[in-house]
Amino acid sequence: MAFMTPDSVTTAPPLLADTAIDDVDLAALAARLGTPLHAYSSSAIRQRIGGLQAALRGLDATIFFAVKANPNLAILQLMSNAGVGADIVSVGELRRSLHAGMPPERIVFSGVGKSADEIAGALTVGIHRFNVESHDELLTLQRLAKVQGVTARAAVRINPDVDAHTHAKISTGKSENKFGVSIDEARRWFAERKQLSHVQLDGLHVHIGSQILTLEPFRLALQRVAAFWQELEQAGHPISSIDVGGGLGVCYRAGEDHPVAAADYVGVIREALAGYRGRLLLEPGRYLVAEAGVLLTRVIRVKPGIERQFLVLDAAMNDLQRPSLYDAWHDIVPVADEPRPLTTYDIVGPVCETGDTFARKRVMPECVAGDLLLIKATGAYGASMASTYNSRPLAAEVLLNQGRYAVVRRRQHFEEMIAGEPPARHWETT
Ligand SMILES: *Cc1c(COP(=O)(O)O)cnc(C)c1O
Repeated sequence: MAFMTPDSVTTAPPLLADTAIDDVDLAALAARLGTPLHAYSSSAIRQRIGGLQAALRGLDATIFFAVKANPNLAILQLMSNAGVGADIVSVGELRRSLHAGMPPERIVFSGVGKSADEIAGALTVGIHRFNVESHDELLTLQRLAKVQGVTARAAVRINPDVDAHTHAKISTGKSENKFGVSIDEARRWFAERKQLSHVQLDGLHVHIGSQILTLEPFRLALQRVAAFWQELEQAGHPISSIDVGGGLGVCYRAGEDHPVAAADYVGVIREALAGYRGRLLLEPGRYLVAEAGVLLTRVIRVKPGIERQFLVLDAAMNDLQRPSLYDAWHDIVPVADEPRPLTTYDIVGPVCETGDTFARKRVMPECVAGDLLLIKATGAYGASMASTYNSRPLAAEVLLNQGRYAVVRRRQHFEEMIAGEPPARHWETT
């Protein structure tokens, strides 16, 4: 199951953490850089990219990394160097991608709320394609492209009304979700395609949700897209680009989560879109980076409670929101080479909310204050969703590579955190 509630008790034997990742010693790293610390293995990320690219061999397919999963510039640079593009959802992500050296022709823009300014900015730099999510957006794109005297390439984001069997907050392909348009509506867009003088509407896009652990939802969605593509071709609307979205799940809970293999996933794409000769786009986010990342944290203290024992960490919900936001499970293990007796903890952070809980009733090796722990599989939607709640500065991020490390975000200073907050001295009227 993808999302066990933190209340469920694990029966799998808790593992000790590896003492090194990407040949970098974790205890030494934490001693040098402090905790909490997000660490990413570049070897692991490259391996994921390589595996997916190998599975795609023979297809005219390009991977566009969903930047929101991990927008760190060094990660984007790594993606760019590996031939991977960017799937962006804001002008901030556009600027990050360009800053990291991503060529504009390897950037696609998704999202229901692209503002006119954002669309104009993306047109100016000449991005590869817009994944359009509403008729109003389509007309805005036409108007702004006309102003700039350019032609925008566009795909319709189809809402295929498919249940991705994932957490409700990250399901995006059901008719009740805000994303995409129905096939009926998309059909009307193509019928009036010729009136769009500055939009080349020749693509289909679908993204049904995140952390999907079975092939069935992908197959269903792609079958619907394939049927629509064939219908459009027959009606004289050539489709040169099909974007199959992201959503591939990862293993958050060893022994419980069984992600689909890249080759099987691509097999479903090949089968559903057999006969299609245009370009394929893939937008994985989590799959490329989640398991490559860990959050290093230290035990501040062990607090005996009235009913339970609490393990209080120096990491909190502001560093990793997934458990409090989605009831998400993360394996948590001490960095130690000696086995220890097992006990049961509620694992919490210092933030003043009961929601600041990483795990409830978690069976794991006994810990003492000062112990170094790993929260695993935090490379996606970890640092990218971090905040300074409780005035906790943003944690540092470090990229590991075959025995060496590079700090790719230094720990935020207090002064940086309060920058932009002048005292209310200059009172003005509107
Ligand atoms: C978030 C998102 C993705 C990536 O989702 P993952 O589950 O991280 O692979 C891809 N496409 C779109 C449009 C998205 O919003």
